[in-house]
Amino acid sequence: MKVQTPRARAWWWSIVISAVILVTVVGSWVGPAAQGRAPAPLSEEAGWLRDYLRIDTSNPPGREHRAAAFLGDILHRERIPTELLATPDGRVSLYARLPAEGEPVGGPLILTHHMDVVPAGPGWSVAPFSGDVIEGRLWGRGAIDSKSLGIAHLAALIDLKRRGAALTRDLVFVAVADEETGGSQGMGWLIEQFPDRFSAAWAVYNEGGGVRAVGDTVRWWEVEVAQKRPLWLRATAHGRGGHGSGFNPRSSVHRLIAGLDRLTSLPAEFRVTAPARDFLGALAPRYTGRLRRIFSDLDRYIKADGPSEPMLPTYTNLFVDTLQVTVLEGSSSINVIPAQASALIDIRMLPDTDAEALLARVREALGKRIDVEVLVTAPPSPPSPKDHPAYRAIVSELGGIAPVVPSYMVGFTDSRFFRERGIPAYGLSPFALAAGEGTGVHSADEAISIERFDDGVERMKRIVRSCVAR
Ligand SMILES: [Zn+2]
Repeated sequence: MKVQTPRARAWWWSIVISAVILVTVVGSWVGPAAQGRAPAPLSEEAGWLRDYLRIDTSNPPGREHRAAAFLGDILHRERIPTELLATPDGRVSLYARLPAEGEPVGGPLILTHHMDVVPAGPGWSVAPFSGDVIEGRLWGRGAIDSKSLGIAHLAALIDLKRRGAALTRDLVFVAVADEETGGSQGMGWLIEQFPDRFSAAWAVYNEGGGVRAVGDTVRWWEVEVAQKRPLWLRATAHGRGGHGSGFNPRSSVHRLIAGLDRLTSLPAEFRVTAPARDFLGALAPRYTGRLRRIFSDLDRYIKADGPSEPMLPTYTNLFVDTLQVTVLEGSSSINVIPAQASALIDIRMLPDTDAEALLARVREALGKRIDVEVLVTAPPSPPSPKDHPAYRAIVSELGGIAPVVPSYMVGFTDSRFFRERGIPAYGLSPFALAAGEGTGVHSADEAISIERFDDGVERMKRIVRSCVAR
């Protein structure tokens, strides 16, 4: 046996220590994947969302029946009864109700979201209905608008059922078809056909809420209480068809172009409405400088011909009825004059605009030879109140993180069907999305952070529990 001198022992130990360091360093380079370590398992709710995102409900055509069956299966496993409600055109919505224990203290709380999504469109980095999990995010059309919200609602309902909670009022879960093209085959139809299920509602939580963040930090929450109203039109010009080589002053296309030119030349009229005053007044203290000054004194800065100082379009649009010609339809051949040409016109009205008067102006500008058909519209409705317990429940949960602001949005949601009937509806998103995380909504690469989704689901459970549990 060879006896080691102290110097030889030191040399030997230095080799051993170097080898240990080398193995540790290489191990950390190679990373978890090469070591076969699986990614963290999804929460039950994130697993539901992944599977929900894998169901293609692009609208048109929607095909929501598969999504309704998917949600129905989850509810059946929890022994919560459901109803599938189908329009004559076969568009399916799902309705579930958890009853109050004994005599309810009032009408139900309704949780509603839409199952349909806008078509995926081009430019995606992943397959848009893959439900892929990449770097801690769930990807897919609907990840934010609005399947994540739907799963948060579902989780809140199931949470109460599993707890065996005694409810003071009924809790209703509605997953609807057809929101993205106006709701006539979804909530608009349901509320007309089944007024008894909706008319006595205490309050509604729906999409439309949001968050303003800088990086990962929430600056404020927006709970939507008011929105602009749609006036969607089809304008159709008739004329004499024929060969493109002909002299034809009665061309339908030329009549349409001339009419649209008169229409889009009408001056825009800006004005301050009550919801804009409430929203921007609440935002004023969150800004500094110019916007704080403008938001604190709207009457001074919003003139009839527009804001006297530059503002972001998201805010400018809150003061004016906007009009956009979005679709033109005529001949499909360069050398054929069509007998008919049409345009789709997307008008967004302020909450108190007189729709009939506006429509009369549109018809007059387009002229007698152009027919105007109203595709979608909504009557004026009051903003949902801030002194309602369903609003206060949101504030007491979200307000612990950041201030809650009652917002007024330029888009429209199914909440209008409730507000028209005097039912308070709140656009509520419980997800503390980071800055820029919402950019995939209605464009490519819609995705949601799984961690922020899971946190939001728990928030939604607490908000709903505080509204309905004894
Ligand atoms: Zn939506």
